Amino acid sequence: MIHKSFLIFLLLTISLKFSFAQSDTNKTKKLMPITGILGITGSFGEIRVDHFHSGVDLRTDNKIGKEVRATNDGYISRINISPVGFGKAIFVDHPNGLTTVYAHLDRYSDPINKYAKKIQYQLKSFKIDAFPKPTDIPIKKGDLLGYSGNSGSSGGPHLHYEVRTTTDQRPLNPIPNFLNVIDSISPIIKSLHIYRLDSSSYANGHSRKIDIIVFKHQNEYLINSKINASGKIGIGIDALDRLNSLSTQCGFKSITLSVNDRIIYNLTLDKFSFAESRYVNSIIDYATRITSGKEIVRLFVDPCNFFSGLHNIYNKGIITVIPDSIYKIVIRVADASNNISKLSFSINGINPPIKPETVGIQKGNTLLLSCMMDNSIINDTFILQIPKYSFYNNLYFTHQCIESSKYIYSSLVRLHNLKTPLHQKIKLEIKSKNIPVKYRSKALFATFDASQRIVSVGGEWKNGSVSGSISNLGDYFITLDTIAPEIRPVNIKSNMANAHGIQAIVTDEFSGIKEINGYIDGNWVLFDFDQKNSLIFYQFDEERLVKNKNHHIEIIAKDNKDNEKRFNYDFFW
Ligand SMILES: [Zn+2]
Repeated sequence: MIHKSFLIFLLLTISLKFSFAQSDTNKTKKLMPITGILGITGSFGEIRVDHFHSGVDLRTDNKIGKEVRATNDGYISRINISPVGFGKAIFVDHPNGLTTVYAHLDRYSDPINKYAKKIQYQLKSFKIDAFPKPTDIPIKKGDLLGYSGNSGSSGGPHLHYEVRTTTDQRPLNPIPNFLNVIDSISPIIKSLHIYRLDSSSYANGHSRKIDIIVFKHQNEYLINSKINASGKIGIGIDALDRLNSLSTQCGFKSITLSVNDRIIYNLTLDKFSFAESRYVNSIIDYATRITSGKEIVRLFVDPCNFFSGLHNIYNKGIITVIPDSIYKIVIRVADASNNISKLSFSINGINPPIKPETVGIQKGNTLLLSCMMDNSIINDTFILQIPKYSFYNNLYFTHQCIESSKYIYSSLVRLHNLKTPLHQKIKLEIKSKNIPVKYRSKALFATFDASQRIVSVGGEWKNGSVSGSISNLGDYFITLDTIAPEIRPVNIKSNMANAHGIQAIVTDEFSGIKEINGYIDGNWVLFDFDQKNSLIFYQFDEERLVKNKNHHIEIIAKDNKDNEKRFNYDFFW
């Protein structure tokens, strides 16, 4: 036996030494996609609206145009250009089975730009998703791919950098293995929250959640107040991390909850698939996010949350508190460089004071729906089809149809509330009324966002109803979009001889822009479309346009209800 364990020890020592040696050589070989000291403004797995952040955001000091270089040998496997999302993005496949992604670029290097532009002209589309062959654009480590920017749905100039496993396209945390970032700052725990998880449970009272202030004493987070509880309760925390002096608020890598030295919940954000990124809405306290913007991570698991980053879950992270017992709670929050912060406190089990009976006033109809089953609601006004796993929890679903002179083309259909998240789209059909035949193709759904603004949700008229898919609950009604987009020239004048290109602002009032096409002298020309700024831009192209003559430009913009606007102008270039 002694001999055997010694052998295991020896093998372990060898393999540890080997892996250290390997990571040391990797470190010297690591290449950053941009040069300079790395400020991180967004970390991997950070909680975002409806998703976990799939990469690392690298600071470019609020400037566009920093050189972006391939971090390893390989070839360009994908060129994705879109007015939203990643904007101008480049994907490089490497022989080690990894893919790196460089997004929100301002522009590509010359050979990549030429390749992309050729496809855009072939397809007559700004938006493309091209998959070059391995031999088309081979890449050496350090090759220029393009220049950092703010394209797509970016909130300011930065480089979004991702590392994925090529076969399944699952993003993984580039820190610490693929990015040199020195981080010695531990995560910050901002607050603690205790949730009552059934009607008979108690936690310092009978409110849905209690908020507790935490403070740091030496190296540990503690609380000042006593927690008395009974029955089923859950724990939540608000935590963040900073990587270095150049980083802004970032996310943590893992949270572990132990009760009396037993781990009952662990969330680790080191790898996930895009298909499960929306589980973030079940990980956080979604209702609190909607009402206050605060992102509390709930250390207990909904029955229909199947996120792969959840580990060591015991009893779904729920603590059943028994009177006269003491529960020693320890929460550990770690960042990607393994700096750990610890929050410790105790929960005392008590016999709760008897709760006064409250009678809830229910408006509308209520149905108990299971998140594990397909559900549908059919009545004279609407049909709602909810596939299984659309909700994270079983719920008493309320719905109501409201008649009002404000809503001419249908009733207002109230589907539960905005504070309950949906994991996937569900199908809604609302019966229409009073829509003149000529406007039926212009009918669509409208809803209210969290700030009570009316927003378009799409949908199509068919056989007396409008049907479509919705990704949030809330209030829905039918409206019409008959107004064409607006095209406002920015720099167009009769003599464009000294201009670099043509710029215009294209906006749409309701259903949103579906397509924009520009033609010079009858030929399709490439307009870049920056949707967040409603800006389109054509760069004069000597390869495709003859200089020193009169030209005619036509811009055609269509919205999602096919309302069309045309703009025509003659100019000299
Ligand atoms: Zn990003």
